[in-house]
Amino acid sequence: MQKGTISVQTENIFPIIKKFLYSDHEIFLRELVSNAVDATTKLQVLAQRGEVKGEIGDTTIQVILEPAEKRLIVRDRGVGMTEEEVLKYLNQIAFSSAAEFLEKYDDSAMIGHFGLGFYSAFMVADKVEVVTKSWQKGAKAVKWTCEGTPDFVLEQAKKAERGTDIILYINEENKDFLEKYRLESLLEKYCKFLPVPIQFGTRTEYEPVGAGEEAKEEKREVPNIVNDTHPVWKKTPAELREEDYLRFYRTLYPMAPEPMFWIHLNIDYPFNLTGVLYFPKLGNSLEVTRNKIHLYCNQVFVTDDVRDIVPEWLLLLHGVIDSPDIPLNVSRSYLQSDANVKKISEYIAKKVADKLHELFKADRSAFEQKWRDLGVFVKYGMVSDQKFQERAIQFALLENTAGAFSLLQDYKEKIRANQTDKHQKVVCIYSQDPAGNDALIKAARNRGYDVLKMDAVLDNHWMQHLEYRSELGLLFVRIDSDTLDKLVQTDEHKSSVLSEAEIETVKGVFEKTVGQPTTATVECAPLAPDDLPVTITKPEFLRRMKEMQALHGMGAADFPDSYNVVVNTNHPLVAEKLVRLEDAGAQFDLAKYLYEVALLQQGMLRGEELTAFVEKTLERL
Ligand code: ADP
Repeated sequence: MQKGTISVQTENIFPIIKKFLYSDHEIFLRELVSNAVDATTKLQVLAQRGEVKGEIGDTTIQVILEPAEKRLIVRDRGVGMTEEEVLKYLNQIAFSSAAEFLEKYDDSAMIGHFGLGFYSAFMVADKVEVVTKSWQKGAKAVKWTCEGTPDFVLEQAKKAERGTDIILYINEENKDFLEKYRLESLLEKYCKFLPVPIQFGTRTEYEPVGAGEEAKEEKREVPNIVNDTHPVWKKTPAELREEDYLRFYRTLYPMAPEPMFWIHLNIDYPFNLTGVLYFPKLGNSLEVTRNKIHLYCNQVFVTDDVRDIVPEWLLLLHGVIDSPDIPLNVSRSYLQSDANVKKISEYIAKKVADKLHELFKADRSAFEQKWRDLGVFVKYGMVSDQKFQERAIQFALLENTAGAFSLLQDYKEKIRANQTDKHQKVVCIYSQDPAGNDALIKAARNRGYDVLKMDAVLDNHWMQHLEYRSELGLLFVRIDSDTLDKLVQTDEHKSSVLSEAEIETVKGVFEKTVGQPTTATVECAPLAPDDLPVTITKPEFLRRMKEMQALHGMGAADFPDSYNVVVNTNHPLVAEKLVRLEDAGAQFDLAKYLYEVALLQQGMLRGEELTAFVEKTLERL
């Protein structure tokens, strides 16, 4: 027997370890099981090389709970350790690396991510015993005991089998780790896809035996293996069928609706990364699906917070990425500047773009049908990632109010002849509310203009972004932002039915009708006789400014809701009826009615005014 003191310069780190990160105590299990996995894989490698002679036997790792003794044991049949190795690895290397870790990384956000290793056991245990026997010929089993002080005891032990038992005496504060369900859920969280089988107790299986009258079920206890050692992302796509990907998705997110499709990531140069990313059905939302990507390191679960590794817009995806090349025990700011991490996110973004392009080429109409879900994602990518935006030009779609889809460039060609303004910009007319703008859309179509549907969650940003990319030469105007002809800035001369004096009269009547206090301006325009008699327009620029302000939480009061009341002086109700009315009161009433119809059409007639309007209309019947 040998007694000693773990020799390090650092002060006693045990009290620090114990106090460390209350919320993350549970990671001790991941650390110990990962060590067991490492020891087992090392043994398998030695066996392959022929250095370990004979059969290596069953290498299943056991997690054993003995609540009565307050013990939790992690048992592996890996390489084990000789006495020298225990002294070297547990007393020197592991201890000093734990000490260094605690000193350096006080960034609580990242501390759970590896590095604390073996000594994390002392977060939950007052005493830890390691009973181990090396694979090497003639090695003697040893037992190392440490009670959470720098003093340890090393003695001869009895152990028949090769491998290591880590025995934790769980302390009072952490006694929940002695509960079966707690452990089950931890194993599920951290160990579900580890590459070596892990057994936690047994479970009952029922097997049908006999046939006919004799048939009955036989009950038997079988090892309860908690992990899938060959998860989907570690296989090659050729080995997998669609059903395999879907089944894997269901194990990750049992409650989620089926994903639309997925990409299998697999690269080993210039960094190592595998994974499967799924495209969920987003609908018209950006929120519900966030933070669903799980990060693994060699099949060990690390975190489901991958914000610094994956660009913001890709966080909408679901699935798994596994990479030993992502530095884990470092601070967030370091991660963001890490070259590998940058390359990884670029790689993922490129894969995503390739996949979308491939789907688009393979079956355009299926792609169009999914555009509602895909669009949110693609638009998000385009506004936030320059490289993706360049790729996305090949599959990003515009949908018009008649339900037809076009690629950006195709659309531009399609409308160019009819919708180019005097600055040679191609003007896209859009509606954010096709049902509400029905009359305006019909009128536009009659004039041969096309109207886009822009009612998805990111459309405002997206349009602004597309305008900003001046090489596209596109301009967007909302259908109610001006009269149609002005929208596309045709300087076509319009002949007026009314004289200038008559137009002045009409203007006066409407100004009185629209009244005070309002921020509306009355404008007379000799539009086509079949255009609407009165239209409400809201200048694009002002409206966007207002929307931006609202978005940034600024008071809308600074920007009053100003609009124009455009009176079509060529419309029969104005040109023939209104001007001929003798009575000022009757003129006023007609103007008011036409104005209110326009407000109604734009969804701007509300409250008492709406009620009064409806009553007035009913009286006329
Ligand atoms: P790390 O695993 O990051 O190297 P640890 O503190 O977890 O750091 O462990 C230190 C060392 O102790 C390991 O590198 C390994 O050599 C040895 N060790 C720990 N657990 C086992 C085990 N179950 N079997 C064999 N060796 C082990």
